[in-house]
Amino acid sequence: MMYDCHMSHPSDVSRYAKMVYRKAGDNGLKLPVVSLGLWHNFGAEADPLVCRDIVATAFDHGITHFDLADNYGPPPGAAECRFGEILRTTLASHRDELVVSSKAGYQMWPGPYGDWGSRKHIIAGCDQSLKRLGLDYVDIFYHHRPDPNTPLEETMGALASLVRSGKALYVGISNYHAAEAVKAIRILNDMGCPCVLDQVRYSMLDRWTEKDHLFSALGGKTGVICFSPLAQGLLTDTYLSGTIPAGSRAKENGSLKAEQITHSLVVRLNKLDAIAKKRGQSLSQMAVSWLLRNEGVTSVLVGARNPQQLLQILECVETNPSFSAEELNMIDKITEA
Ligand code: NDP
Repeated sequence: MMYDCHMSHPSDVSRYAKMVYRKAGDNGLKLPVVSLGLWHNFGAEADPLVCRDIVATAFDHGITHFDLADNYGPPPGAAECRFGEILRTTLASHRDELVVSSKAGYQMWPGPYGDWGSRKHIIAGCDQSLKRLGLDYVDIFYHHRPDPNTPLEETMGALASLVRSGKALYVGISNYHAAEAVKAIRILNDMGCPCVLDQVRYSMLDRWTEKDHLFSALGGKTGVICFSPLAQGLLTDTYLSGTIPAGSRAKENGSLKAEQITHSLVVRLNKLDAIAKKRGQSLSQMAVSWLLRNEGVTSVLVGARNPQQLLQILECVETNPSFSAEELNMIDKITEA
């Protein structure tokens, strides 16, 4: 049965009591500890009712933050169009309750201005995103990835211009390692435009941010929002049997390849699952709780194929159980292997 939610005229604001909100670094902006990303499952071929249901379920459980990028689809741009449609039909009266983000920095149109981090690309990219979303402004606009061939001053200057012109309320960077993030944040600060978030890949299975000392480099001033917290679905029940079920991301063999589901990975996933079970959690819930134990994490940015997946993850928000030192050690040993 489809999720039933009276989005147009909600009388029940108890959704905000179901969620925990953390500040993005030392900025005023607060984000839900679980945010929803629309990288997958919101392309042109996706079922519009399921898409609407996922977003409605998120909103009805206190998720105020929806993360997009110009290239999310397929085809690129489709997820922004779809979310724009949901905003108009379902959430129109709730714009001020939402934090909508988008990004530019990956290939979007032909020619020398369709990619990377030039001022030309960033400003045009944001304008195109606003049209697809049907919005006058986004809440956060990110540079999607560092550009080795454009001066950081130019890229950050373009982000600051978006804020000055009212097209974005805040800006962020994504996939920036500690050293380049610190430089970018300094440039933005000098222009009076704080960088609210660094959006990075971080999960129990992907620990580069720890080796990079990203959290200490940011010093708590810029928030960290973690993408692919479930390692694109690896940290869930889906692959525990060692098979690749129909309708899973690995079956699509796109951003998550079937060949990544190796025997040794499945053994490690089952060991993690045993720890989760002892804690009274599912593997996906433990993966989210593990990230949230770090107060430097502003939000965990999950994806969901359907509302049920999201609801399962959200269960760990209210309880947010802590970890014993022994559990953390065991997780480290398993994930280091
Ligand atoms: P996750 O690691 O949360 O993976 C989401 C996938 O996990 C789902 O599509 C589903 O896979 C599976 N899943 C989720 N919940 C459950 C559950 N309860 N039980 C079983 N399986 C579950 O995140 P994503 O990789 O989707 O990334 C999240 C967001 O992060 C993106 O939408 C985007 O906004 C952002 N992102 C940013 C990037 C950047 O460069 N800045 C790059 C990548 C992502 P299945 O379909 O197999 O069921």
